[in-house]
Amino acid sequence: MTEPVPSAVPGREALAAAMLDANLPTLVAVLFQLTGDPRWLADPYRPTRSRGMEDNDSGGFPPEVQEQIRAAAVEAVLDWAAGRPPAVPAPTGDDLVALMSLAVGEEVGAEYEPMTAADMGFRDEPPRRVDTDLRVVVIGAGVSGMLAAIKLREAGIEPVVLEKNLDVGGTWLENAYPGAGVDTPSHLYSYSFAPRQWSTHFGKRDEVLDYLRSVADAHDLRRTVRFGVEVASAHQHDQGWTVTTTAGEVLEADVVITAVGQLNRPKVPDLPGLAEFRGPLFHSARWPEDLDVTGKRVAVVGTGASAMQIVPAIAGRAGHVTVFQRSAQWAAPNDVYFSEVAEGARLLLAHVPFYRRWYRTRLSWNTGDRVHPALQVDPDWEHPERSVNAVNDGHRRVFTRYLQSELDGREDLLERALPDYPPFGKRMLLDNGWFAALRRDDVDLVTQPVAAVTATGLRAADGTEVEADVIVLCTGFETTRQLWPMDVRGRDGAVLADVWGPDDADAHLGITVAGFPNLFLTCGPGTVLGHGGSYITVAECQVRWIVDAITTMAERGYGTVEITPEAHADYAARHDAAHDAMIWTHPGMRNWYRNPAGRVVCAMPWRIVDYWRMTREVDWSELVVEPRRSRVHAPGHPTPGG
Ligand code: NAP
Repeated sequence: MTEPVPSAVPGREALAAAMLDANLPTLVAVLFQLTGDPRWLADPYRPTRSRGMEDNDSGGFPPEVQEQIRAAAVEAVLDWAAGRPPAVPAPTGDDLVALMSLAVGEEVGAEYEPMTAADMGFRDEPPRRVDTDLRVVVIGAGVSGMLAAIKLREAGIEPVVLEKNLDVGGTWLENAYPGAGVDTPSHLYSYSFAPRQWSTHFGKRDEVLDYLRSVADAHDLRRTVRFGVEVASAHQHDQGWTVTTTAGEVLEADVVITAVGQLNRPKVPDLPGLAEFRGPLFHSARWPEDLDVTGKRVAVVGTGASAMQIVPAIAGRAGHVTVFQRSAQWAAPNDVYFSEVAEGARLLLAHVPFYRRWYRTRLSWNTGDRVHPALQVDPDWEHPERSVNAVNDGHRRVFTRYLQSELDGREDLLERALPDYPPFGKRMLLDNGWFAALRRDDVDLVTQPVAAVTATGLRAADGTEVEADVIVLCTGFETTRQLWPMDVRGRDGAVLADVWGPDDADAHLGITVAGFPNLFLTCGPGTVLGHGGSYITVAECQVRWIVDAITTMAERGYGTVEITPEAHADYAARHDAAHDAMIWTHPGMRNWYRNPAGRVVCAMPWRIVDYWRMTREVDWSELVVEPRRSRVHAPGHPTPGG
């Protein structure tokens, strides 16, 4: 999708028809930019705030005001198409904050200005370009690795990307289970520089993968990636790194960027009898391409995001589904979760200036930082057993009512499906038909722990035998064993897995580790969004910081850059202190963000806007550098294919 151009704007009739599918809060902000008329900033044109994650297309406006907005928008867009430039083409400063507050229907803090201006393209930050022979190896060609490669190229640095799979896409390539898809709205779960005309509001796996492939093609990334190459180890030496693949190939690099994600290595429970089962038994991320579950008895272990998508997708087709639940899950409704993007909305997204950008900014706010304050523990809150503060208690009421309505008349299910911990205490899920699936006669919910796998199914802890033809382990990923199973060694041979311990990773900004110069992590410790928003936003923050570091290395002739132990420790302490005040460390919380000792290793405690500010540029006072020396081991730049 390209930016709207005046010559492509459809005629009045088509435009007016499309306006019926408009998101009106978005349209009001567009109207102000196109006309500059201040009346669009005040009542009666101020929309209401969205409830929960809903789009709030009507903006809460009465019908006659809706009509005025649509009619005025048609005129403004046609005027623009006829050659009138936008009155406010690039709002910044207080104007942008006011406009954003208008568009989301509530006050937004001034701290959102720099991030919003950058994401919306209102403040140009052209990439610096360097002429350098620095050799950069990126490990992984998923969302983060592709991004790193694109942004390094823009900076004049040609990396080599090593990817264990045979295509780009990472998690979206690997997770091919029925029903797989995003639960972050697709217009937000896209690179800021690569919009797409999404067919549905929440893209399914094939479309997300197609998107990533098309971005790879548009940026000619495949020539940078060596597919089918898995990294076994990365060892620091002198001023660089030796990277060794599982096939024994050795590559020399000056800088290594890891882009292996946190949700890549399946966690398979060590159940007795795993090898005994006679049928297909696999982890959700390893769904066999040729498996047909039609008429089969399927046992699903786990009730996280993967199970939540698989069960509704196979129920009805499978002969019978038995779900083994260890913990109940909160799942929120979303009014457009299943919807295609309406024809008219697609037209507006493609042809109306600023429309897509405001639509995305609204999504970013509504699904992201707006939720963050509600996840802070109120030490004086009287009901810590069910929620962490009054707002979180309100969430609990809303989601409980929803669950009750979905399971109406099924007290047996309600009792078992209602979580006993605060909403957002585990990663919040969207209901994609989970509760409706549980109600089915051909779906059973078992709340006994799984004791063993047998030749013909699963045995529950109370001895109940569940017969199955297929067993799907939706048991999550090795999230706390970051970078595992790679053998990463820094200065003086320090083994990263020892420095971190088996499950206690931390990194300054989640990006860089003291003692490991020229090693930069994406999706590292403490960078997964637990409160909401899009991981791609976080990846863009990290890659901006990393590319800033590497271009500066090239510009200033640094051979190594390394976070000081003090800065690293200070960040880790602030990270942990922030988490101590948040929901995921609340007593009784069990989630994949925490390690067995209770420390949050995976999730970010900050608002996205805070992390954006922290990663905006490298603070060189926190890094030690060495001037570049001539290379000791310099067998040449590791080029693709050789
Ligand atoms: P997960 O959220 O870690 O869920 C694992 C599930 O397995 C939990 O219900 C867990 O129970 C259960 N479990 C683990 N070991 C078990 C055992 N030995 N016996 C019984 N139950 C066991 O994993 P996931 O569903 O694959 O999702 C991981 C993350 O991937 C998500 O949180 C999300 O970030 C991402 N994801 C996103 C989407 C999406 O966007 N729609 C889809 C899939 C995945 P407990 O809760 O009691 O630990």
